[in-house]
Amino acid sequence: MIYKKRTMPNELKGLLSLDKRLPNNHIKKPEVKKNLLICQAGYNGELELDAHINEFKPNYRHAILHDLYLQQDGAYFQIDSLLITPSSITIIEVKNYKDKTVIKANPTQFIRVFQNGDRKPMRNPYTEIDLKIHLLKSWLGTRGIQIPIDGLLTFTHTNELAIKHPSPEIKTIFTYEAPAHFRSLPVNEHILDGHAIHNLANTMIEHHKDYNPFPLADRYDINPSDILPGVICSNCDRPGMKWGREKWNCPSCGHTSKTEHHQTVQDWFMLIKPKMTNSDFRYFTQLNNRNVARGLLAKSGLQLIGERKAAHYVLMKEGKSPTPVE
Ligand SMILES: [Zn+2]
Repeated sequence: MIYKKRTMPNELKGLLSLDKRLPNNHIKKPEVKKNLLICQAGYNGELELDAHINEFKPNYRHAILHDLYLQQDGAYFQIDSLLITPSSITIIEVKNYKDKTVIKANPTQFIRVFQNGDRKPMRNPYTEIDLKIHLLKSWLGTRGIQIPIDGLLTFTHTNELAIKHPSPEIKTIFTYEAPAHFRSLPVNEHILDGHAIHNLANTMIEHHKDYNPFPLADRYDINPSDILPGVICSNCDRPGMKWGREKWNCPSCGHTSKTEHHQTVQDWFMLIKPKMTNSDFRYFTQLNNRNVARGLLAKSGLQLIGERKAAHYVLMKEGKSPTPVE
């Protein structure tokens, strides 16, 4: 059973918005574009894995959690996907590279071979997985759980993979092979019963924290005034929607909407800073009327803090509720 689904990562949401709002001639534009592509490819690879994992339907109780972010010994660690069976836990790491990847042993080396033949050594994913196994073991240990933990490295099929000498410890496969790999896992010893698997999955969800890279202006060292304001039309993707007759109107395509400022508000929090005043709202939506701004802000699902000159809005805290029993 899938206990935690994957949603679009915050970093990708933020980069999509930053890319729309950063002028093409901005000095940081190439870096933003590059990271956007890397992030998009990573997410696509993970979605591909999820689709294959859906084929895995064993007759024993199990839990699958996608995109977990946990803390142990002061360090946060992110797990692409996690499988809990009665006998073991598997940490799955997904890589989606379009270039050919060569894996060599003794010493372990990951080399990317570009289309022009250039070769570039990469960070060794086995080391990353080993660290995550170590941290998860420790995380479980503090909760009195001892169970074998394996790592699984998967590559999306679009990538050409050449494994010269496979790692003896961590299995390396294509994502489409994941269900077959899971089916081959031995489930002899029942360390965790159905109830314990269910509780463990819910405890992980309770301790999961969404990775928060915001605001991206700080992270990329971009002056907030370089980020283009304006309400972007969801129909034609052009900025410059104007408020009139109780709705947003797109001068480019004629699209109208009452709620188009919601995304603009989200963009502000992702890109600029974690609070927004009435004046910030008017600047970022390019709206002149303070009272209209107050009315729209009140309906934006934000929390108002302070009064008069100190009044500002922040995002509501998201509540997390554990998955109910099947
Ligand atoms: Zn439009």
